[in-house]
Amino acid sequence: MSATVLVTGGAGYIGSHTTRQLVQAGFDLIVVDNLYSGHSWAVDPAARLFELDAGDAATIGKILRAHAPIAAVIHFAGYIVVPESVSDPIKYYRNNPIASTNLIQACRENGVQHFLFSSSAAVYGQPEHVPITEQATTAPINPYGRGKLITEWTLADVAHTTQINKGGDDRFEYMALRYFNVAGASPDAALGQATPEATHLVKVACEAACGKRNAVQIFGVDYPTPDGTCVRDYIHVEDLAAAHVLGLKYLLDGGTSTVLNCGYGHGFSVREVIDTVQRVSDVPFPVVETGRRSGDPAQLVADNARIKQQLGWSPQYDDLELICRTAFMWEQKLAARISRTG
Ligand code: UDP
Repeated sequence: MSATVLVTGGAGYIGSHTTRQLVQAGFDLIVVDNLYSGHSWAVDPAARLFELDAGDAATIGKILRAHAPIAAVIHFAGYIVVPESVSDPIKYYRNNPIASTNLIQACRENGVQHFLFSSSAAVYGQPEHVPITEQATTAPINPYGRGKLITEWTLADVAHTTQINKGGDDRFEYMALRYFNVAGASPDAALGQATPEATHLVKVACEAACGKRNAVQIFGVDYPTPDGTCVRDYIHVEDLAAAHVLGLKYLLDGGTSTVLNCGYGHGFSVREVIDTVQRVSDVPFPVVETGRRSGDPAQLVADNARIKQQLGWSPQYDDLELICRTAFMWEQKLAARISRTG
């Protein structure tokens, strides 16, 4: 019988790609999503969808018991917009670390021993060195990043108690995957980022290329980077989903708790990303230089040696043009869908 995995946020961007890859890998999937920013059509038809909050511990507990044994929980659900976390921190603390703690509690009370968590490079804040290793100081500079770090600490502390107190059957092992800048869509254009009111750069630029926006703003041209704009490590969503499949197998095979960067190890500036979207789309949309956005570090680039070594992760889409092209194709598809449905 195939192992059952519960995925929160499986109707969202990264969650939907990962759910599809997990189904293809032979896992039995339960998806929990409140559809705040996700879509039921994005959930693989082989998965069972429950529409509820990931932090609703009582209902999650019932689901875990009804489908026991649950081999692992993969927790994607959460708010993801850094500037919004700065303007509305309570919304972010409530929905991210507090909900995550509830979910972890439900796992502990119902015998779930493996937990994969969507963490973020935002936990590093303004890194002292790039590329950033997992041992680098964690000093997040916005509520989004602080919330992610709180959940990492919660998981580490819970795992620690099971190691010192019980061992054996009560072990709890987790993996925190620190995502860098996730972008792109599935090459078959079946899945992609469909969140309304997107703020992430690749998506925003693709929306401009599709005529959904008049222009793209560059937030800050005076950073200490080669062209003055921020540098990020853009990772294709399918490679990130593959890291989750490998991460799950690692934990199920007895791997111990770990924290892993998910990025390619090289960065591109905001200008380079915008130029690439203009080139692959062949649409010279207007670009407007403006002031810095609050909460943005100058550079975030992953050292990915550990994930390659621990999981044998081998990226297949490490190509900015491919990332932007798949994101643009997806955006065109979304635009056609919206014009059909009004
Ligand atoms: N950015 C930009 N214009 C936009 C959106 C983003 O200049 O419309 C910049 C942003 O300031 C940051 C980089 O692009 O330097 C990546 O931002 P994004 O929101 O995509 O991801 P984050 O790094 O905040 O997770």
